[in-house]
Amino acid sequence: MAYNARSGKEQEPCLRVIPLGGLHEIGKNTCVFEYGDDLMLVDAGLAFPSDGMHGVNVVLPDTSFLRENQKRIRGMIVTHGHEDHIGGIAHHLKHFNIPVIYGPRLALSMLTGKMDEAGVTDRTTLKTVAPRDVVKVGQHFSVEFIRNTHSMADSFSLAITTPVGTVIFTGDFKFDHTPVDGEHFDMARLAHYGEKGVLCLFSDSTNAEVPGFCPPERSVFPNLDRHIANAEGRVIVTTFASSIHRVSMILELAMKNGRKVGLLGRSMLNVIAKARELGYMRAPDELFVPIKQINDVPDRETLLLMTGSQGEPLAALSRISRGDHPQVKVKTTDTIIFSASPIPGNTISVVNTIDKLMMLGAKVVYGKGEGIHVSGHGFQEDQKLMLALTKPKFFVPVHGEHRMLVQHSKTGHSMGVPVNNTLIIENGDVVELTPDSLRKGDPVKAGIELLDQSRNGIVDARVLKERQQLAEDGVVTILSAISTDGAMVAPPRVNLRGVVTTADARKMSLWTEREITWVLENRWKQLSRNTGGTAPEVDWMGVQREVEVGLGRRMRRELQVEPLILCLVQPAPGGTPTYKGRADAEPDDRPASRNRGGGAGRGVVRRNGAPPAPVRTNGSSVAAPSKTASVVISSDVATSTAVATPAVAVAAPAATTAVATKVISKAEKTAEPEQDMPAGRTRRRRSAAV
Ligand SMILES: [Zn+2]
Ligand SMILES: [Zn+2]
Repeated sequence: MAYNARSGKEQEPCLRVIPLGGLHEIGKNTCVFEYGDDLMLVDAGLAFPSDGMHGVNVVLPDTSFLRENQKRIRGMIVTHGHEDHIGGIAHHLKHFNIPVIYGPRLALSMLTGKMDEAGVTDRTTLKTVAPRDVVKVGQHFSVEFIRNTHSMADSFSLAITTPVGTVIFTGDFKFDHTPVDGEHFDMARLAHYGEKGVLCLFSDSTNAEVPGFCPPERSVFPNLDRHIANAEGRVIVTTFASSIHRVSMILELAMKNGRKVGLLGRSMLNVIAKARELGYMRAPDELFVPIKQINDVPDRETLLLMTGSQGEPLAALSRISRGDHPQVKVKTTDTIIFSASPIPGNTISVVNTIDKLMMLGAKVVYGKGEGIHVSGHGFQEDQKLMLALTKPKFFVPVHGEHRMLVQHSKTGHSMGVPVNNTLIIENGDVVELTPDSLRKGDPVKAGIELLDQSRNGIVDARVLKERQQLAEDGVVTILSAISTDGAMVAPPRVNLRGVVTTADARKMSLWTEREITWVLENRWKQLSRNTGGTAPEVDWMGVQREVEVGLGRRMRRELQVEPLILCLVQPAPGGTPTYKGRADAEPDDRPASRNRGGGAGRGVVRRNGAPPAPVRTNGSSVAAPSKTASVVISSDVATSTAVATPAVAVAAPAATTAVATKVISKAEKTAEPEQDMPAGRTRRRRSAAV
């Protein structure tokens, strides 16, 4: 019996494999191996945001488990340099050190750039490995790097030897017997381990649903060649910058067809520079022409290679399709080749880009039938070959969405792996392995962290919900002037941006007046406190919140819209002449008393003494009242222009991002309260959680 540091229990020694990302999704592959007191990380990637994650740049796994156990992290293994395997490392290093990272030369050199940018180069030591190198991590792990074939050069599968047996962790792979760089899959080594006995196989499931063998990367060469040779004018090719083999072939074809190459897109420039410097790509300097001079080269001798194969809005090709690229405009003689297939989720933006390019008159070559793209991940027959070579006792499909994992495990069963010897797992699940058992242990905390454009600020659930509200129902801003003795002293200014409503402007401002009047008549006592000084102390944030909640409730009820409502109050001195409000309107149908307690914990928390600028709250804020929360509007209400208000107000969510430090966890995701919703109301909007 051994002591388990995490559970604190005496139990049979076992190996724990804990994926924190990469399951039930494609992206952010992050896996932890645990034995005794040792933790070893295998890859730490990122994923890209899905629809509705407004302003989110990058999605990372929740790493609470690693942060809590950082003292036990002995090292990390990197399989290859794709973003879904290394994209999270620099960010994680801001939170915990990793004593050493072993990985292929190309991946680590790409990682160096990211670590420089993040300023975390001192948090780890990078050590490059060669095929068949064996490294020791902690007391219990010894890892052999087995050369494999994939769309990225310098990629490895891993044989991880532990006290309970050997685990084969495939990394991303396909069996390509004619690799572009001549680096063959070291199948002999896999077979060696298969013969010795493999306890468990963790294998790439990306193409588990696709029958047959994945065609070799070389198979796209003649098809690309044909399109480039037949092009009458310029050739524009887009692909993943990280698809080193594809890029190599495109450069080779440019040379073969007498075309000079112009590169567009930061990642395309970076990856090619790095790959050429390290010798993964051979292309003479004369082949390249700086993009500023590319228009001097005749069209028939030009090939532009660029990012944008996924329709990313800021990528070069997308900008060209919108006509807003400074150097490159589409010509009707252009041939534009999409040498990539859309990642699920990107399909719509890709087809939109294709449509725009076609409408500009270019010839666009895309789609499966053209033979200009093959996957970097093996199909069913590749996966069977992996199972056949490694002959694992236990089998856990990884790197894939749920249905892919299910299909891959069926493939395992068809190869003779007993059903009970396979597991379908989720992020945060713990796979416990002993020499003769495979089971799920107690899960660890898993979830997601959303980073904004700066990749520093964390977008928490609250901010995301506000952004969804803004995107779907717009924003209402209210500027009102209230005296310290509790009277409205000017008509409120109401502005709507992006709000679709059947109510006219007059009705909206009438409702707003009613809300303010109601708050002043019914809530003023609770919101102001006579301290014995010249003026009472007023919880202006509370006043704003009351108005926001009341108007929000009315707009939901009467108009079925749920915009973000921002109320700003300009305090006026006591004794300022009172504005009486409009009396000619419809009767107020609101009940005389209402429970507006507001749920705790849903509000935006203001953390410090507010600067002398408008302060806003939304929903039921838990901000401290009184002095720090008092509101000052620098401009005079009566003269300030209405247009200025939303500009001030809309800036607020960005400020929220800076102070938000919350991490959305699996548990919180499901438990997210909806206290500001009236009971019984059907929630129309998709959840803020993702
Ligand atoms: Zn990959
Ligand atoms: Zn991958």
